[in-house]
Amino acid sequence: MTRHTVALAALAVVLTAGHAAGQGQDFSKVDIEAESLAPGVHMLTGAGGNIGLSVGEDATFIIDDQFAPLTEKIAAAIKAITAEPVRFVVNTHWHGDHTGGNENFGKAGAVIIAHDNVRKRMSTDQFNEAFKSRTPAAPKGALPVVTFADSVTLHLNGDTVHVIHVPPAHTDGDSIVHFTKANVMHMGDLYFNGGYPFIDVSSGGDVNGIVAAADKALGMANDQTKIIPGHGPLASRTTLRAYRDMVRTVRDRVSALVEEGKSLADVQAAQPTKDFDAQWGNGFMKGDQFVGLVYASLSKK
Ligand SMILES: [Zn+2]
Repeated sequence: MTRHTVALAALAVVLTAGHAAGQGQDFSKVDIEAESLAPGVHMLTGAGGNIGLSVGEDATFIIDDQFAPLTEKIAAAIKAITAEPVRFVVNTHWHGDHTGGNENFGKAGAVIIAHDNVRKRMSTDQFNEAFKSRTPAAPKGALPVVTFADSVTLHLNGDTVHVIHVPPAHTDGDSIVHFTKANVMHMGDLYFNGGYPFIDVSSGGDVNGIVAAADKALGMANDQTKIIPGHGPLASRTTLRAYRDMVRTVRDRVSALVEEGKSLADVQAAQPTKDFDAQWGNGFMKGDQFVGLVYASLSKK
């Protein structure tokens, strides 16, 4: 298995077992690896969502923080790059494989920043219909203390970093983080590079929003932009475009069948992902599961 497949498989274990906090997973063998994307901007990979790291003259900050048991390893990987402690954590959305380290980093002095709905969902028990899994409310120390409705901007390390909320897509609290000078974007789980996206319909997710968010990111990117996906390897505008085209095509096919009044079983039997499965169906979501979520998303209106 590639590292990418491993990461997506780990996510599947987490979500299907209902352990968004990562209990039951063996983190002892996880290595945190850092990849330099631009001066002062790095991507860290381990288990769970990819992490963005900014270091420089003003403050160290990270985007997402994987699982709580990995905090020490993540902090060690950051320490190998900068002596300055993490002052801010931005969460791209509420899922535990992206926010599991919040409490630890918060205790160590970081200010946690996220969209209003991230704090809202983390504050109460959540139930995921697709996986029949329950995630208990996070402890107070894990909650974002600075929240925003539309966007917030960090003026740090010589860059202007926009954190932009998008309409419901993967969840109802997703943000794209855009380093305008470094030309780097972190898309959180709006983008699964190389696999079908998980649409968390129970958290307000919507397939139309995934397509719209990809369109928005494509509009902000150029051919040199480095794109950190929520899961999978570092991406570019070219790979993001292929992902957007795939999601849009499946959405259109399922939508036409929903309009005809077809049942989920009928839609799955029509195999709307058939020609995509070889390339996109080997990760966390299989074609049928993805179709199920697209169907649920389009049927809920
Ligand atoms: Zn997620």
